[in-house]
Amino acid sequence: MFMPFSKTIQALGQSVTRHTRCIASLSALSEDYQMLQKTCRDFAEGELKPNAAKYDRDHLYPGEAIKKLGELGLMAIAVPEKWGGAGLDYLAYAIALEEISRGCASAGVIMSVNNSLYLGPLSHWGTDKQKEQFVTPFCTGDPVGCFALSEPGNGSDAGAASTTAKDAGDKWILNGTKCWITNGYESKASVVFATTDKSLKHKGISAFVVPKPIKGLELGKKEDKLGIRGSSTCSLIYEDCEIPKENILGEPGFGFKIAMMTLDAGRIGIASQALGIAQASLDVAIEYASKRIAFGKPILKLQAIQNKLAEMALRLESARLLTWRAAWLKDNKNPYTKEAAMAKLAASEAATFLSHQCIQILGGMGYVSDMPAERHYRDARITEIYEGTSEIQRLVIAGQLIKEYGLN
Ligand SMILES: Cc1cc2nc3c(=O)[nH]c(=O)nc-3n(C[C@H](O)[C@H](O)[C@H](O)COP(=O)(O)OP(=O)(O)OC[C@H]3O[C@@H](n4cnc5c(N)ncnc54)[C@H](O)[C@@H]3O)c2cc1C
Repeated sequence: MFMPFSKTIQALGQSVTRHTRCIASLSALSEDYQMLQKTCRDFAEGELKPNAAKYDRDHLYPGEAIKKLGELGLMAIAVPEKWGGAGLDYLAYAIALEEISRGCASAGVIMSVNNSLYLGPLSHWGTDKQKEQFVTPFCTGDPVGCFALSEPGNGSDAGAASTTAKDAGDKWILNGTKCWITNGYESKASVVFATTDKSLKHKGISAFVVPKPIKGLELGKKEDKLGIRGSSTCSLIYEDCEIPKENILGEPGFGFKIAMMTLDAGRIGIASQALGIAQASLDVAIEYASKRIAFGKPILKLQAIQNKLAEMALRLESARLLTWRAAWLKDNKNPYTKEAAMAKLAASEAATFLSHQCIQILGGMGYVSDMPAERHYRDARITEIYEGTSEIQRLVIAGQLIKEYGLN
């Protein structure tokens, strides 16, 4: 099942650092998933972790590493092999993305956006012609794609899109500004949401695939962010941007549904990114606590520190189970909107908690960039904001509960 990964393990020459972390729930994973996990963990240890601080400090897009992720099949994990992807499932995606994010959260978000937000809707709703042009080349890590839903006037309220797509016979003409777009600088195509009929509100929104560069599209400034600084975030400004009629994705008016279904899947990705950041924080905290001597013994022996570590592990493992459950439900074609929202909420809050506690365990060393703890803390924060804030996840969970009780 994971042939490309086994080949790559050999290609990597086994030049990997031994890792001692033990996940109790790992024993439940089949050998294929364990092999994938090991491949990703080794890649993250060998290629991402040593460079993550540099990507962060210099706001450097990790282009070479992303290409290698493409070679490993990790930039198109759930895309069918027919179209150039690895043909794996979402549990594989969740496992891989956690390991990659554990090495570098910026690489994690670049991978997540390409996999679930860009290739996800295109492989599901794209025509064969669209897939040839906009899926297959984007499975390699270079080029990458992006997803343009948010606007200056609406983020959480995604149905209020004000970017317009005018029907002009054999073409669409786009006007409007999309903001906060991850991979905005490097991407060579975007899935863009625009309204074809404002009076229909969210039912007037359609999805389009737009190549880049293209006449009528300008990029805004690169945002100077708190975390995930190796990934670019910018506005996409469309001014009379003409795209062929055939570049609509799915039916006209189906865009909001495409966006919401894409985000359901995307939340499993962000949950996994958050797990990676949380796990990295636990790794740092335990290693430091085992070496730091205070009052004549390693602080790991102090019960106050052990209580913190226990709480960290508890939240991490709980969130991981929720994330893998959401992936499993999706893979088995069950509804998973509520479970994906729960996974994203739990994992993002766990990442914030664990990275906060990690700094506390490191004391002063947690506060300086000589150690990765402060980067994990900054990287964790975004997972509570993008692809739906924590407040929105709670609304989604409550909405699904109300439906389950037949009270809607
Ligand atoms: C680094 C970064 C990368 C991003 N990448 C992308 C991307 O690739 N593509 C893309 O389309 N977007 C992207 N986004 C946008 C992101 O998804 C939005 O920022 C997010 O959805 C929140 O929208 P907003 O910023 O407009 O906040 P608002 O919607 O203005 O929310 C502000 C506050 O109000 C709360 N709030 C709003 N509505 C409600 C409600 N009904 N009930 C309770 N509380 C509410 C929110 O939870 C939040 O606390 C990115 C953002 C960042 C910062």
